[in-house]
Amino acid sequence: MTLLGQYTEMDGGSQGFFKAIDRLVRNRQKISNENNFMAFTQFWLRQLGLFVTISLCTLQYSHAADAIPVYKNTKATLEARVDDLYGRLTQEEKIRLMAGGGTFTMAAIPRLGIPGLELSDGPNGLRSNYDQAATVFPTGVSLASTWNPDLMKSIGEVMGQEARAMKAAVVLGPNVNIQRTPLAGRNFETYSEDPFLAGRLGVGLVTGIQSQGVGTSVKHYVGNEQELERNRSSSNIDERTLREIYLAPFEAIVRDAKPWTVMVSYNRLNGTYMSENKRLINDVLKREWAYDGVVMSDWGAVHSTVEAANAGLDLEMPGPPKFFGDQLLQATRTWQVEQSTIDAAARRLIRLAIRTGALDTNAQSASADELASERNHQIAIAAAQEAITLLKNDRALLPLNKARIKKLAVIGPNADVAVVEGGGSSAVIPARVTTPLESLRAFADTGMKVTFAQGVDNDVVPPPADPRWLSPANDRKTQGLSFAFYDNAKFEGAPAKSGVDNYFDFANIAGNLSHMSARWEGYFWPPRDGSYELALSQIGSTTLWLDDVPIITPNTATQPNSNEGDILSMPLRTVTMNLKAGRGYRIKMEYVSFPVRWHAFRFGIRSPAVDIEEAIRVAKEADVAIVFVGGSRTTDSEGADRKDMELYGRQNELVKAVLAVNPNSIVVLNNGAPLTMPWIDQAPAVIEAWLPGEGGAEALTQILFGAVNPSGKLPITLPRRIEDNPTFTSYAGGRDANYGEGVFVGYRYYDKKKIAPLFPFGHGLSYTTFEYSNLRAADSVAVGKPIEVSIDVKNTGQRAGQETVQLYVGDAATKAVLRPIKELKGFVKANLRPGETRTLKFTLVPRDLSYYDVSAKDWVATPGEYHLYVGSSSQDIRQERKIHYIVKAPN
Ligand code: BGC
Repeated sequence: MTLLGQYTEMDGGSQGFFKAIDRLVRNRQKISNENNFMAFTQFWLRQLGLFVTISLCTLQYSHAADAIPVYKNTKATLEARVDDLYGRLTQEEKIRLMAGGGTFTMAAIPRLGIPGLELSDGPNGLRSNYDQAATVFPTGVSLASTWNPDLMKSIGEVMGQEARAMKAAVVLGPNVNIQRTPLAGRNFETYSEDPFLAGRLGVGLVTGIQSQGVGTSVKHYVGNEQELERNRSSSNIDERTLREIYLAPFEAIVRDAKPWTVMVSYNRLNGTYMSENKRLINDVLKREWAYDGVVMSDWGAVHSTVEAANAGLDLEMPGPPKFFGDQLLQATRTWQVEQSTIDAAARRLIRLAIRTGALDTNAQSASADELASERNHQIAIAAAQEAITLLKNDRALLPLNKARIKKLAVIGPNADVAVVEGGGSSAVIPARVTTPLESLRAFADTGMKVTFAQGVDNDVVPPPADPRWLSPANDRKTQGLSFAFYDNAKFEGAPAKSGVDNYFDFANIAGNLSHMSARWEGYFWPPRDGSYELALSQIGSTTLWLDDVPIITPNTATQPNSNEGDILSMPLRTVTMNLKAGRGYRIKMEYVSFPVRWHAFRFGIRSPAVDIEEAIRVAKEADVAIVFVGGSRTTDSEGADRKDMELYGRQNELVKAVLAVNPNSIVVLNNGAPLTMPWIDQAPAVIEAWLPGEGGAEALTQILFGAVNPSGKLPITLPRRIEDNPTFTSYAGGRDANYGEGVFVGYRYYDKKKIAPLFPFGHGLSYTTFEYSNLRAADSVAVGKPIEVSIDVKNTGQRAGQETVQLYVGDAATKAVLRPIKELKGFVKANLRPGETRTLKFTLVPRDLSYYDVSAKDWVATPGEYHLYVGSSSQDIRQERKIHYIVKAPN
């Protein structure tokens, strides 16, 4: 250990000083070891040179300071700017910076030109705090199915540009919690059951976003693998499992992509709230991984002043402060929190402000045209093309040939809705979505007739109102409702904003205003006769009129209005009405916020029950039937875990019935987490669309008809039944979430227990075939040295295609602990023309062979035999060989 390791939390000046001493000591040791007088002389000459350079620089800066202070000087180094600004802060200002200024803003110090930085949610796009639409990229699990870190980087670049256009300084993502139980409500938002894959993809996204001068917040650090009791339960994870599985993606991202912020989770970890977890924040993240960014709390995850500050929490969110602020100031006065703790946090917070360019006088902000642009939409399509995963394709039923299809039946509850993302804090307001039915109709020409029947429902609660059924005016020329919002609770004065809305699921309408009101008006055109369920939920109160009659008012509601600032527990208020198709009902809604700085509002409409018999008839009459089932816009969401792994409602019945009447049926699943497929043996072709973002429908049509060759691979195992999954005997609510399966998460468990999954980790088919040959690696490699591995992969089919070649390592040497049969340690996605062969290379480093030794508190790779497995999935291993990791290199 170097000297530096013992004191990371000095102020910058002293840190720089100690660094210099440390360098000096190390150099001196080297010198005395070599016992070389010349080197000693040269060394002192170098130190002298360094001194002169530093003095000159300081002179230059102090000269420039006449015109512009160092902290605003973009030519000065980051640390020089931090030092300078830090020196200007008062104690009160330092503490003010340590808590939010508003719901999604940090505190401002106008005196020094420090603005309140805007933080914006969105692992899969930018969630506006001001009702703005942005590009909706595929959700986390969907992005992870691309197995493409370069693509992640490109998506990150676009997200960074959109963040700038929204004036957001930090994107609150990616979410790299591990998919441990198939039931976790946020599985769709996270990447994988595998820490290596999650880490590499996270590095890609963070690098891309931050390249645009926008920060990221890697979340939720750590052990937040379920929604059930997430705010108070303790994730009990043993040290080795924590290191090898749950911390590993964070470690990779912190070391390789240097995120500017990290968000600590709601849960406790082995009994201690993560916001107070000194060992994991100060010792592991900041000291061991040399992290120099800001550690912020999840929203409302702070429970104390002294413990949280002393653990290393730099920022309490949201603002205004509940535990920091005045209480923290008081705690410093009573010496419960040391001055050095406040100073270190202040330095990190101003480092963030400087990094984002917020203090630069001439900072360029991107034009608002960047948001949800056509160019970005094309990138969302490209992402969905690589994410959508072909699970099964018997008889080469896919791709379809348009010329051979006279009638195409499009069936199911997800066919004519755009289920593009999950619910909760990650939900982005889309600007341009298409439903699969619309996309298929646009693709079909006169030769192919597209018929449609919904068959069954899949919404647990009424889904967000479909804008196609609404219009601002009676002429029905445009979709949606006209809206106006006011910066007061009484609809007074001129609206602060007005226009047409066609999205009715807002997480936050008006940023930091504590009072607001909004009105939506227009016409509702029921698509068919029958009974409609209209639903409202909001933080505040709403009245809904239909044909000028108030049908939901604050008094008629079945449940009370909510004044809790929690979008996840808003009560649902519904009314059921019999309505006729073919006429427009006048509709008006008036929403008044409660005095909290969070204005969430949802308006849902459930259409009348549909007819499964009609769907079966439509499927039977067609040459090919595509049945679209899965989660709805309300089933995969933050805030609640799923109860089971079943398709909701009568969807399995619908799929079975369609498969029974049409042998050319394709099942398209669109959901965010594993589902059982009781009809799998009868289904010739199955596609997993994975909540694919706004480009999903277009990408799906291209894949169905072969314009795009699918290349998605599962980033998780799909178990056959819930009972097979590793958490089946340990997942529960209550005060403890015991991670009893240890390191045997996902495929590590199915491998070890020899349980055949429905579809294995890494699985995904292509319209072409690949042949693997010639796996090469040295027979023996000396301990500590990298291991070079290569393999030849050939496209043996008729089409160009991409194959993700996966390298797994198995440890046959270690006896001290139980190790997984194999673990992913490398992957390459290769694009090959028909007939083309490519040699793919991997480099394994000692850490790739290692386990975490809890007594040594270190990573250990035991000398001995290791197995290399290269394959197309974790179960489809094409080439295998042994290597010997030996203490002494052979002569
Ligand atoms: C979520 C975070 C999110 C934050 C701000 C929390 O409820 O857990 O992921 O970034 O809210 O919206």
